[in-house]
Amino acid sequence: GKKTAADAELMADKLRRGDRRALARAITLVESVRSDHRATAQILLNRLLPDTGKSVRIGISGTPGVGKSTFIEAFGKLLTGAGHKVAVLTIDPSSQRSGGSILGDKTRMEELVRDPNAFIRPSPSGGSLGGVARRTREAMLLTEAAGFDVILVETVGVGQSETTVAEMVDVFLLLLAPGGGDELQGIKRGVMELADIIVINKADGDLKAAASRAAAEYKGAVGLMRAKSKNWRPKVLMVSAMNKTGIDRLWDTIEEYRAARGVDGELAEQRKEQAVSWMWSELGDSLMSRFKAHEGVAAHLGKMEADVKSARIDPTTAAEKLLAIFLGK
Ligand code: GDP
Repeated sequence: GKKTAADAELMADKLRRGDRRALARAITLVESVRSDHRATAQILLNRLLPDTGKSVRIGISGTPGVGKSTFIEAFGKLLTGAGHKVAVLTIDPSSQRSGGSILGDKTRMEELVRDPNAFIRPSPSGGSLGGVARRTREAMLLTEAAGFDVILVETVGVGQSETTVAEMVDVFLLLLAPGGGDELQGIKRGVMELADIIVINKADGDLKAAASRAAAEYKGAVGLMRAKSKNWRPKVLMVSAMNKTGIDRLWDTIEEYRAARGVDGELAEQRKEQAVSWMWSELGDSLMSRFKAHEGVAAHLGKMEADVKSARIDPTTAAEKLLAIFLGK
C-alpha cells in the first residue's frame, strides 16, 4: 500500500546518497522471504533501476585455498586506492548447510572490511542456488545504485555456481594455484570455458617456477578452446595476492577486455541478454513454486510420483495430468 511505497522511496533516497546502513537494510529486505518485505523490495528495485548498471561487474571463482580472499583483499585495496568504490558479494550455496557462509567470514579480508570505500556482503544462506543467485543479483543492483563502481562477485566452485556467476557479470576470472604435476587435471573443462581471464595466483617464492609452467599449460589449453567472443581470447596472467604483484596488470587487462568487447557494444548486449535470461529463470522458479504449492497438485503429487516409480503411469502422462490439475482443466 501507500506506506510500503513511502518506505521504499525513503530508502531509495538514502541509498542514492550512499548511506551504508540503508544499503545493508535494503539487501536484508531483498534477502527476506516475507511477502511484505518482497513487496517493498520490488518497489525499491524498480525505483532504483535507472541508477544501476554503471559499474564493472567482475566474477571471481576458485576452489578453497587458491587464495580468493587474499586476492580480493589485495585487488580491492588497489582499486579503492585508485579512487574506486568496491562492493564484494558472494555466492556460496554451501552456506545453507553450515549455517554460516565460509565465504562470508569477514576476518578473511581484514583491511578491506575497514575500508570506507569497500562494502562486503556475505552470501545469503538458505534456499536453492537459484534463490541465492537472485538475491545476489538484486544486491548487485542495490550496491550500484549506492555508487559502487566495481562489483566483485565471488564464488567457490560448488555445483553450478560458477555458471551462475558468469551469467551475471561482465568479466569472469578463474583463480588457479600452481599445483604439482599435470596442471590441467581436476579443472572441469566447462569451468575453463567460462573464464575470460585465467589468473594463476601464488606466483612467488618457491612456487614461481611451477606458476610459470602452469601458465604455459593453460595458455596452450585456452588456445584450443572455442572463443566466447570474436573480440577476445582468454588471457592467462600470473599474480601473487600475498606479495601484491601482478594485480595492477590484471586491472589493466580487465580494462583492455572492456575496451575490446565494447562497453556500449558487445558487453551492453551481453547485459541485455543476461537481464532477459534472469527474467526467464525468475519465471521458471516462481511458476514451479506456485505449481508445488497448488492444493490440487499437492494432493496428487505423492501418488503420481509413486505411480511413476512403479511404472503404473509413464512420466510424460503423469506430468500432463498434474499440469491439467494446476490449470484447472
Ligand atoms: P581462499 O580459500 O580461496 O579464500 O584462500 P585464502 O585467501 O584463504 O588463502 C589460502 C592460503 O593460501 C592461505 O594460507 C594464504 O596465506 C595462501 N595464499 C594466498 N595467496 C597467496 C599468494 O599469493 N602466495 C602464497 N605463497 N600464498 C598465498
